[in-house]
Amino acid sequence: MKKNDIIELEITSLTNECSGVGKADGMVVFVPFSAIGDKLEVRILKVNKTYCYGKIERIITPSPDRVTPDCSIYGKCGGCSLRHISYEAELKAKAQFVIDAFTRIGGLTPEFLPIVANDRLYGYRNKLQMPVGVDKEGNIISGFYATHSHRIVPCDNCLLQPEIFKSITDRIKALAKELRISLYNEETRKGNLRHIYLRKGHYSGEICLCLVVKNNEKKLKTLIDKITSEYKEIVSAVININPKDTNVILGEEEILMYGKPEITDTMCGNKISIAPKAFYQVNTPAAEKLYAKAKEFAEPDGKIVLDLYCGAGTIGLSMAKQAKRIIGVEIIPEAIENAKKNAEANGIENAEFICADAGKAAKILLEKGLKPDVVIVDPPRKGCGEEAVNYIAQFGAERIVMVSCNAATAARDCGYFDKLGYKATKVVPVDMFSRTAHVETVVLLIKG
Ligand code: SAH
Repeated sequence: MKKNDIIELEITSLTNECSGVGKADGMVVFVPFSAIGDKLEVRILKVNKTYCYGKIERIITPSPDRVTPDCSIYGKCGGCSLRHISYEAELKAKAQFVIDAFTRIGGLTPEFLPIVANDRLYGYRNKLQMPVGVDKEGNIISGFYATHSHRIVPCDNCLLQPEIFKSITDRIKALAKELRISLYNEETRKGNLRHIYLRKGHYSGEICLCLVVKNNEKKLKTLIDKITSEYKEIVSAVININPKDTNVILGEEEILMYGKPEITDTMCGNKISIAPKAFYQVNTPAAEKLYAKAKEFAEPDGKIVLDLYCGAGTIGLSMAKQAKRIIGVEIIPEAIENAKKNAEANGIENAEFICADAGKAAKILLEKGLKPDVVIVDPPRKGCGEEAVNYIAQFGAERIVMVSCNAATAARDCGYFDKLGYKATKVVPVDMFSRTAHVETVVLLIKG
């Protein structure tokens, strides 16, 4: 097989990145945006030893899973990956991603519980982070980066965002034009406004507006005064200064321009404050279902619960009424400040929070003789890693509940726990990021 060959291919499975997979001439062929059951004419784009990449040239017979994508930039913006199949097929595919990860990567055979579905497929994200720039005609655009690139694909109406985000973003672009605020250009590193960041409390409706800029300038205050007078929902407006040539969106310095430094929302019945830099689950009702699963697995009644990678403390606080004591650990200082405030605001007196690296904190807490009954870990995509797992296992807790947004690293980490005597017994996938390739997983590990 060589580049530009046209082959006939039947898609038999999906990778966890949502590429369709078929076999031809003993080679595995990956085809993005295809569906299981598709019969396709595929153009080969790149050939490696045992596998190659292709793109759909023509659909000979469409998969029964196929639906017409309802977004005009689907496939271009790097956001959604599953708008071309039904939601039912998406849930099946995601459940399979998790099974594949645990059996193939982790070599584990836990009980796989049915995937928990998302109730809202549109407008479910409470957070928007959009790069802004200028197109060839000089118009201000905002959108998302194309896959593996920093080219902005303009997007005026992302179906995953609440409608008010579109309205606010449009207004910011109009005001930036009116006030002649320059737009940052990643190549020349000139210009000022880099990103529009919005976060909305799902239940409270409170909105935080954060403008990420290279430098502070007076015109930004004018923009913020205008927009906050027009949108009463914006109760917090900050400027984040990021002068660096970096992929990281937020810089270190933050200036409060209007209202409160953080918004409040409700989660699992608790009042929660969230600063712009604190992690907050992007789909609140789905996260509540996720936390309910974590609680069911944790059985926290009367127990000492160590909540590692705790963000603003939301998981631990959702169990504080039942648990004897909660100890949360998180690396971002702003999130820890929020976590402490959140405990206080809800009259929770049995929770304490430590700002530290989870692995290092585990080591120190072990040395201090802490004996948690339950450890919850909810690491970022890269997972806990072997070193942290080693320390965590040494607590000898009865159960460990792993919450993860990356089934591959979760399976790997559960493999490490397995060697240290913890059996992954139950796994439940939760769909929090519908139409995208991402899936959340909760795992119960029992000391055996
Ligand atoms: N449990 C929280 C947050 C989960 S996201 C919730 O449900 O909202 C993962 C969190 O891990 C983030 O808040 C991130 O800041 C934090 N984190 C990342 N690396 C870490 C580390 N090495 N040690 C401790 N926390 C870390």
